[in-house]
Amino acid sequence: MVKAMEVYEGKAKKMIPLDEKKLIMEFKDDATAFNGEKKAQFKGKGWLNAQISAKLFKLLEEEGVKTHFIGVAGENRLIVERLEMYPLEVVVRNVVAGSLKKRLPFKEGTELPEPIVELYYKDDAMGDPMINHHHSRALGIREDELREMERIALRVNEILREYFEKRGIILVDFKLEFGKNERGEIVLADEISPDTCRFWDAETRESLDKDVFRFDRGDLISAYEELYRRLS
Ligand code: 5GP
Repeated sequence: MVKAMEVYEGKAKKMIPLDEKKLIMEFKDDATAFNGEKKAQFKGKGWLNAQISAKLFKLLEEEGVKTHFIGVAGENRLIVERLEMYPLEVVVRNVVAGSLKKRLPFKEGTELPEPIVELYYKDDAMGDPMINHHHSRALGIREDELREMERIALRVNEILREYFEKRGIILVDFKLEFGKNERGEIVLADEISPDTCRFWDAETRESLDKDVFRFDRGDLISAYEELYRRLS
């Protein structure tokens, strides 16, 4: 369990220790893409991502998914449970986009016959390489833990997909991170926001997520505000 009291600063968030059991997760206005190669700042992004994450964590909790979310602590800050984090990114895909179309002969925008779950080793210096269960076990993550993370990721997908569909949005894909709490339970952590998910308008197929910044598709704040408006 992480007991250190130092602040951890990442590319888009800062984790500030509050006490032995809790952290403040502060969302920054910084945006980065392509493993930090592209950088910019967008006033209001931190606030939008904090509010969107809080809303989605509350929804998931209501549906019985255990998350690290405890509460909102101001404009761009959430209070979250301290966890021992797994060095993994768990990606779920419903529609072909992003790195999938570079790896397999699928056309962008094609709906997949069933959701695909992928595992990545979280390490910026290595470019977050894709890994499988064998690699994960070699990293010390047990098979039952991997299966539980994948089960939760697919349940999150079911809940969010339906929720966004009702709001005229296609949940294309998203990335989750998990940690373990003091009771040994696997808990959904990090954020769920347009920085970590792909959202397309169901009518126009326009991006309402970080692809707007990655591929210069317009104004990031307008896209994030539109997403937030549809959740409100
Ligand atoms: P892809 O593998 O297509 O680049 O990403 C798949 C999904 O996971 C996208 O929704 C993307 O935003 C998210 N994702 C994957 N890796 C990362 C990452 O390192 N950081 C963030 N913020 N999102 C990621």
